[in-house]
Amino acid sequence: MSADRTQYIVGVDLGGTNIVAGALTADGSRQFAMRSIPTNPGVGDEGVVDRIVGLVQSVILDTIEQANATHRDFIGIGVGAPGPLDRERGIVVIAPNLGWKNFPLRDRIHDRLNLPTTLDNDANCATFGEWWHGAARGGRDVVGLTIGTGIGGGLILNGTLFHGASDVAGEVGHTTIDLNGRHCKCGNYGCLEAYASAPAIAIRAREVLVREEGESSIPSMVNGDFDAITAQIVYDAAKDGDPVANEIVRDTARYLGVGVANLLNIFNPDIVVIAGGVTAAGDALFVPLRAEVRRRAFRPAVQAVRIVAGELSGTAGVVGAVASFKQQHLGGV
Ligand code: ZN
Repeated sequence: MSADRTQYIVGVDLGGTNIVAGALTADGSRQFAMRSIPTNPGVGDEGVVDRIVGLVQSVILDTIEQANATHRDFIGIGVGAPGPLDRERGIVVIAPNLGWKNFPLRDRIHDRLNLPTTLDNDANCATFGEWWHGAARGGRDVVGLTIGTGIGGGLILNGTLFHGASDVAGEVGHTTIDLNGRHCKCGNYGCLEAYASAPAIAIRAREVLVREEGESSIPSMVNGDFDAITAQIVYDAAKDGDPVANEIVRDTARYLGVGVANLLNIFNPDIVVIAGGVTAAGDALFVPLRAEVRRRAFRPAVQAVRIVAGELSGTAGVVGAVASFKQQHLGGV
């Protein structure tokens, strides 16, 4: 009886700051009721579950109204959450920004909403979303990097999201680019994330400005309070031609280029998709990044790849969580 009815899947992207959710038709061609609320991790783990459940319920109700659907047209919920996680058991192993340890998120949501639910890493989902309906459409082997508070990533190999032996695959932010480099939140030294994440960009700007304040407009943008420098301020200053900001963006491009060159030599992807605030720098980021990749990766790998900016700003995680639900629950996207 439901064979010719449109089916819907709800995607949820749980972050430390916001929860984004929306409904997609099962083929991904249409989106409904996309929305975002603050996570408020201070309300505790069950409180965050309450917020997710309320958000999903409102998405379902609004989609029913907008698309003339019924409750039974909804076939499941795909959830993207910060990793590391255990997909098999549906558990978020550690999420420092949420204060979670071994939290059974999938079953909590399933128990409350009574729909099949899957869990996947948020950055894996963001890459999968860009592959399904964004900048990496049509790619067969795709590497994704999502640059924000950290650097997450995802790997799509032969059109399938790759998770590895224990769901760690795609943690490109914690690949080492400098043996004796900067200390990273993960405890390691010299991780890509310690150089090119948004907080790392702000730290490097601060370090340069303490040494050579000279020509930059950044100190006046923060009224002399160097602690107030953010990556966004660096991007804004770079847009206005600020020399120090441009140097920071160029260095960021080179660090990312090193990381991407490593990934090219390992995976030989046809598309590398880079998402996050830093991509707003456009050519100022991508031209030196591609140059660094050309210097370091094997030529056939360089020739085969397109390095592009993400297209699904703010919704890639939701779209990819739906794709992940399809892969895990229905066996394919
Ligand atoms: Zn690290």
